[in-house]
Amino acid sequence: MYPRACDFQVVRKDDNAGLGVLSHRHFYAGELLAIMHGKIVTEIRQHTLQIEPGKHMLDKYFAGYFLHSCEPNISLDMLSNTVTSLKEIKPGQFLYMDYAQTESVLFKQFFCGCDSTKCRGWITGKDESPVALLAAPDVDATKIG
Ligand SMILES: [Zn+2]
Repeated sequence: MYPRACDFQVVRKDDNAGLGVLSHRHFYAGELLAIMHGKIVTEIRQHTLQIEPGKHMLDKYFAGYFLHSCEPNISLDMLSNTVTSLKEIKPGQFLYMDYAQTESVLFKQFFCGCDSTKCRGWITGKDESPVALLAAPDVDATKIG
């Protein structure tokens, strides 16, 4: 039943963000958007979502393409596999999660340009330090945190 192909579409957002999940439907805050399905793998990959350390879900058709925002519009529950809206989502808007909600360690740390006043700048998993900074001295350290 969820996610229905007519409700969501994986499309290219732009060259920077790559692919994302676009909503074709309207959702109010607090609505159930979808139940996630995927293959369970033991190692982190580019499109996996962490269920627990050493256990990741690989969904190459839907949930693996959620974009990151420091002010997300969806929340993931990796135990019930549910995706819930945190705010109103209008047709034509992308779905944004906070990668640090599920991931202890990111497949790849990156600099966020989400334009939120809550933007953390350099994005890491919830249990890792910004190691990639050492290899990227041009990153503005004042935005880290
Ligand atoms: Zn951000």
